[in-house]
Amino acid sequence: MRVLLLGGGGREHALALGLAADPAVEGLIAAPGNPGIAEVAELRSVDAADPAAVAALAVETGVDLVVIGPEAPLVAGVADAVRAKGIAAFGPSAEAARLEGSKAFAKDVMTAAGVPTARAYTCTDQEGTARALDEFGAPYVVKNDGLAAGKGVVVTDDRAAALAHAAECGRVVVEEYLAGPEVSLFVVTDGEAALPLLPAQDFKRVGDGDAGPNTGGMGAYAPLPWAPPGLVDEVMADVVHPTLAEMRRRGTPFSGLLYVGLAMTAAGPRVIEFNARFGDPETQVVLALLETPLGGLLHAAAAGTLADHPPLRWRDGAAVTVVVAAGNYPGPPRTGDVITGADRPGVIHAGTARRAADGALLSAGGRVLCGTATGPTLAAARDAAYELVGGIGLAGSHHRTDIAAAAVDGRITIPG
Ligand code: AMP
Repeated sequence: MRVLLLGGGGREHALALGLAADPAVEGLIAAPGNPGIAEVAELRSVDAADPAAVAALAVETGVDLVVIGPEAPLVAGVADAVRAKGIAAFGPSAEAARLEGSKAFAKDVMTAAGVPTARAYTCTDQEGTARALDEFGAPYVVKNDGLAAGKGVVVTDDRAAALAHAAECGRVVVEEYLAGPEVSLFVVTDGEAALPLLPAQDFKRVGDGDAGPNTGGMGAYAPLPWAPPGLVDEVMADVVHPTLAEMRRRGTPFSGLLYVGLAMTAAGPRVIEFNARFGDPETQVVLALLETPLGGLLHAAAAGTLADHPPLRWRDGAAVTVVVAAGNYPGPPRTGDVITGADRPGVIHAGTARRAADGALLSAGGRVLCGTATGPTLAAARDAAYELVGGIGLAGSHHRTDIAAAAVDGRITIPG
């Protein structure tokens, strides 16, 4: 099988490593890729948000499967354009990707499917927003209705800040605050059959102890030692299958990767958000533990044969990833600094580039690299990930020092 992988972040580097390790994958092409992905794939350039250009590249390179990493190409209709050429695509249609592309659409589907989630209002003016904020009270949760690369949500006790965010966004979803630890559950689906991956937890805030603004994600670990037994079965029955059925009923079946973001509240698991693609950086830890060949799994989802796929196999132990971010991230990042120590297994590239003159590795984005490691226990995996990160040299960079710490220490509790 020949595979074209779209994207160039840490998630795609992890996907590329998984695909390259699958003996059934004979050729791997990535567009645009990154210097880490270049070690295992041939890189091509393409405007990933241009469906016709991606479909043409898929035809030209003779691939059997296109794996779409980021959300923007999905929302733009890249999967539809690839399928129209008779090539399998891992990722939902533009219509189905609205589960991520519009928070209001996702709420509507959840309500119709009876999925447990936060109560919410869609608001388009200050008056409506103010009314919704006052009904729910603090902490206030205001979400941009459109795609915002993981940074469109403000959770704050400051009513004026909540109103200001709403004014900036235009159309927002205001919802009740869900208290409880968060879980990311990835589900591979062909629209009907669905296979859950291991639950993971990510760290959205920039600073230790969840201080500071939201980011694209500063680290992750899997599996979750504190998750109640039966959690995955419960989420499959109460969230995933009803949502997939509702999408089929609407004539827009969802195939690809359904990312269920949950809060473990006193009243049970509640959906915080859906995404239409793998999460970054949880993908790095989940795929580090997946033993089942990745190419065959994604191809079965894309081809509609997932019901015949064997059960997934997992490595024992745990995985932890720690993101090394550039100076000033999540603000406009400092870029162009030389990176040292990245040439080791487990170092996943996200915002890196090669200097044309001498091939030196440079920082080129907000989240620059992540150190991903596995171990027989979560504590061992955490130590190994921090050792990797400790070996990386990048002026002005920062990382959280508490990724997976509370889970290792048994300090995570579900309210109630
Ligand atoms: P989202 O883009 O919807 O995942 O939101 C980003 C982050 O904001 C989530 O991972 C949560 O940490 C937080 N968040 C979003 N919605 C809520 C909510 N209703 N209650 C509490 N926290 C939330």
